[in-house]
Amino acid sequence: VTRELPSLTVHRDEVADLGIRTSSPVACDVAFEVGATGRSAIVDCHDLAGGGVVLAHRRPESQVLVGNPPSSHGKVTAEERLARNGHVGRVIWLTGLPGAGKSTIAVALERELFNQGKQVYVLDGDRVRLGLAADLTYSPEGRRENIRRAGQVSRLFLDAGMIVVTAFISPYRADRDAVRALLPSGAFVEVFVSAPLEICERRDPKGLYAKARNGEVQSFTGVSAPYEPPLSPEIEVRTDTCTVTECTCRILDYLNQASSMGAGLPRDQEGSPV
Ligand code: ADP
Repeated sequence: VTRELPSLTVHRDEVADLGIRTSSPVACDVAFEVGATGRSAIVDCHDLAGGGVVLAHRRPESQVLVGNPPSSHGKVTAEERLARNGHVGRVIWLTGLPGAGKSTIAVALERELFNQGKQVYVLDGDRVRLGLAADLTYSPEGRRENIRRAGQVSRLFLDAGMIVVTAFISPYRADRDAVRALLPSGAFVEVFVSAPLEICERRDPKGLYAKARNGEVQSFTGVSAPYEPPLSPEIEVRTDTCTVTECTCRILDYLNQASSMGAGLPRDQEGSPV
């Protein structure tokens, strides 16, 4: 408590309605929501001076809400979206070194799925960096936040019943796992787009490896920042030995197979497909 109580005395057996302001956020429950912990105690130099119940709490304007938003609870159900779209939604998460081929495969996959009549959209790392994540750096924290945002956006697309193909380097395993954990079981398809560093560097589609080597670009994955390959991705495509078409077909085959096994279908509370 940072503010002095006004010079008003609350005597023994009296009750007062107090507003308490703290200098930093304090976790508390409201008594009528969580009776056991929606209480407070006032301690004066080790002595218990009073007790109370928490009637309400107010969040300062600047404080952000954290946690995962619930799935859509509008009047259109997941089953209706499934029936309308004719397919389950998925998040096809491409990860790999710069120049490994994520964007190339993402757009090829999008084209093919679109041709098949699917609702599909690519979230490209570079484009997200220019808008949604324009305020973030390439530090480990910036990268983590970038992937967290991308994961949340993917979740919204998935909620809308769409297939999202993402093309983010997403270098940290824990960040990718966090996105997986965010999504319903079977919805996250991790695709390791792999090619040896030397080949990615030789391709250097955006000239960034050269800039990283001569110090013009800092914290560049593969050169001056780490890349943690997936340990057990759903799919690995080797772009040094397979063509774009072969890599794309491999992902499409996986999706067809997973769909025929019911993976990613909306589930009821017991986990059975609806
Ligand atoms: P990333 O998005 O991973 O940074 P890009 O897709 O922008 O990589 O660039 C990959 C480059 O590699 C492109 O120039 C692409 O034509 C080339 N490439 C060669 N073989 C493949 C393949 N099998 N899959 C994807 N890209 C490939």
